[in-house]
Amino acid sequence: MTDTDVVVVGAGAAGLAAARALRAHGLRFVVLEAMDRIGGRAWTTDTDFGVPFDIGCAWLHAADRNPFFPEAEAAGWTLHHHPMGVDRLYFGDRAATPGELAEICAAEAELERLLDTGAADDRLSSLFSASRAARAAATFCGPMDFGQDADEISVTDFRGAADLDPNYFTREGFGALVARFGADVPVSLSTPVRAIDWSGDGVAVETARGTVRARAVIVTVSTGVLAFEEIRFRPRLPERHVEAIFDLPMGLLTKIPVEIRGDRLGLNPFDDLLIERHAHHDVYFLCFPFDLDLMVGFVGGDFAWEMEAAGPAAAVDFVTDRLEDIFGSGIRRAVGRSRMTQWGGERYVRGAYAAARPGKARARATLADPVADRIWFAGEALAGALQQTAGGARLSGERVAGQVVRALWPGRA
Ligand SMILES: Cc1cc2nc3c(=O)[nH]c(=O)nc-3n(C[C@H](O)[C@H](O)[C@H](O)COP(=O)(O)OP(=O)(O)OC[C@H]3O[C@@H](n4cnc5c(N)ncnc54)[C@H](O)[C@@H]3O)c2cc1C
Repeated sequence: MTDTDVVVVGAGAAGLAAARALRAHGLRFVVLEAMDRIGGRAWTTDTDFGVPFDIGCAWLHAADRNPFFPEAEAAGWTLHHHPMGVDRLYFGDRAATPGELAEICAAEAELERLLDTGAADDRLSSLFSASRAARAAATFCGPMDFGQDADEISVTDFRGAADLDPNYFTREGFGALVARFGADVPVSLSTPVRAIDWSGDGVAVETARGTVRARAVIVTVSTGVLAFEEIRFRPRLPERHVEAIFDLPMGLLTKIPVEIRGDRLGLNPFDDLLIERHAHHDVYFLCFPFDLDLMVGFVGGDFAWEMEAAGPAAAVDFVTDRLEDIFGSGIRRAVGRSRMTQWGGERYVRGAYAAARPGKARARATLADPVADRIWFAGEALAGALQQTAGGARLSGERVAGQVVRALWPGRA
């Protein structure tokens, strides 16, 4: 391996964007990726259902600020605008009454008001009353959006996240869009970085295939990977960075798509169906997207970790049982192929996305501070108001590459 200007660790949306930005500034770079494909948490595959399915990101959030959106439009991809909200709500097997649905809207409006006025306790759960409708509202913004239960989410961090409207889906797949974006970026695949030595002038980035020396490194791996110390830093990172990594644990969102053949069960394509249950064992279904024979179940937060541990067979049984509760036993015969995503157990990701612990919202800014003008972090955890999104990760990669150029090659900025 040859020496270069900058090493980029990871070829997800952030790493690919950083590499493209470095190239635009005329710098040399090497991108090292642990997996045997690019895209990271953006991954579309048709191997499960014979049509593109997003194992990771699927919603093009904040389309008016998301650079992937105009690219999908320009490519002529099929786009569907999808306003977020609950179309069908069940408490266990009972459909919510119109009054209860109205209560959810009231609970969401109340949350907006309380977010503006602030909270004595930095836990999101402290803003919700104990009513069932309020708990259903909490399910959407907690486990389903943040991948964490509401008592593990910082109000300050939550407030810092943008309203992600307008949201779009693309039939061809968000992962495919990210792969297209990175198609011409040279990437060393199947090359996990084991250590970053910054004891000398620049950095020495160590892999099983050799060491790459550079002036700087942009690390785009998830905070889950960093917390597991998959990458050893020599010397250790400053204590404030280490603490910030642990204060940004990964939440989890697990998808359990099942093929439902034939009858559409009185549901419309893209309906949002939420089943609110005891002890946060809630499940959300995106119904028949693009009129495909698919109901995509989602579980989030602590329950998603439990579900992943239980395994795909238990997960598919769980969602089938819940559908049977509502639509009757005939639905079993309609269930075909299925899958469970496993981002928690994916060694090179270890969760869905990062969320600051209550009281620790500053951790994002701390981790974004470069270390000795040699180590920069980028990615969804450091994407400002677009934190947790693929569009945000891309913008973070671009921004950090710009910072590196301005700091080390001001003549090229
Ligand atoms: C189930 C799920 C649903 C989601 N839904 C949405 C959504 O609808 N819309 C949305 O915008 N976002 C969504 N997201 C979040 C979105 O996918 C991520 O925010 C985004 O893709 C993160 O990009 P990144 O580049 O920061 O990180 P990653 O995509 O994780 O890229 C980091 C890369 O680093 C690599 N890596 C790790 N360790 C090493 C190592 N030691 N050496 C070398 N390489 C390494 C990884 O393999 C990976 O490719 C979802 C995520 C999940 C998991």
